[in-house]
Amino acid sequence: MKDMIPVNSLARHIAPLQQQLSAAAARVVASGHYVLGPHVVEFERAFARYCGARECIGVANGTDALELGLRALGVEPGDGVAVAANAAMYGTTATQACGAQPVFVDVDATTGTLDPADLERVLADDDRIRVVIATHLYGRLADMAAIKRIAEARGVRVMEDCAQAHGAVRDGERAGAIGDAASFSFYPTKNLGALGDGGAVTTNDPAVADRVRRLRQYGWEGKYNNVDRGGRNSRLDEIQAAMLAELLPRLDEWNVRRRAIANRYSEGIKNPTIAVPPVAGDDYVAHLYVVQTETRDALRDHLAAAGIQSDVHYPTPDHRQPCHDGAFAEVRLPVTEHMARSVLTLPCFPELEDAEVDRVIESCNQF
Ligand SMILES: *Cc1c(COP(=O)(O)O)cnc(C)c1O
Repeated sequence: MKDMIPVNSLARHIAPLQQQLSAAAARVVASGHYVLGPHVVEFERAFARYCGARECIGVANGTDALELGLRALGVEPGDGVAVAANAAMYGTTATQACGAQPVFVDVDATTGTLDPADLERVLADDDRIRVVIATHLYGRLADMAAIKRIAEARGVRVMEDCAQAHGAVRDGERAGAIGDAASFSFYPTKNLGALGDGGAVTTNDPAVADRVRRLRQYGWEGKYNNVDRGGRNSRLDEIQAAMLAELLPRLDEWNVRRRAIANRYSEGIKNPTIAVPPVAGDDYVAHLYVVQTETRDALRDHLAAAGIQSDVHYPTPDHRQPCHDGAFAEVRLPVTEHMARSVLTLPCFPELEDAEVDRVIESCNQF
């Protein structure tokens, strides 16, 4: 049996950086600052500059970034938030944490990102909607030009969920600087990941930035003066900010390698039962490489027998999750529901070797 090919490997990713990261962590230990200190300020500046956004505010994780971003964009209890249902409940969780209602929008059958035509229908139908969340799923930028045009025409603000799309760029605009606000996760497996939890909100709107800065720390303006409702404790700590500052300079080369792997797959996999995503440019940073097939279980078994791991992102759409007690039983999202049955994630991470990629391609073509 040949070596197992994993879907992702943090061990391979971090091993060459172990000394550099340990040294950076030791500097934080010695510094006496552990939460919202100079490393956070430095990383926030560097990441805002990288994204081309005016402001970056570090928070505790990507779901908090979504929630605090929604609140800062004016979402109040009882409002609606338009959101896709084909990730793992992230946008829906954040929306419900604000006391708002998710209003589900179907997605494009090729990209899995928001279908602008369905967004137009949903916004015309429901005037409670204040914000639309555009998730750059699998690392591919959503159709932001169309989404912004449709949202702006109705006074709806646009929040980008960039948790899978650090560094993706189209027409000179990078993920995190295209909408009214954007959320990032730095969970270890993301394209830019810390060695623990972390997240950020980016925005070009100084009022939104100020509000997120207050909300991440109890709603304080200065110490012990609570001016904003909906505040909480959601801070980025110094060790994670120091890790991220070390890793950010490598993000572009990692994304280039991810994209090269994705393109090798899309050119090499030639099996009529497996639909591959389009060969990609800079607007796709290949967080996940996802094919579609009507015979998913059989393909998974075939790959597993060849020592190749695969995964499903994501098997249960948000409106079908058991936590809602049937509240969305009437909701129909044909493309989302079909993709939940047909998507399959193949191994894709910067340290994957060409010989491994070729083994996966060969195995797919033999299926
Ligand atoms: C990972 C992820 C999140 C959540 O980030 P956490 O840091 O785990 O809270 C949100 N949205 C998307 C699309 C993600 O992939």
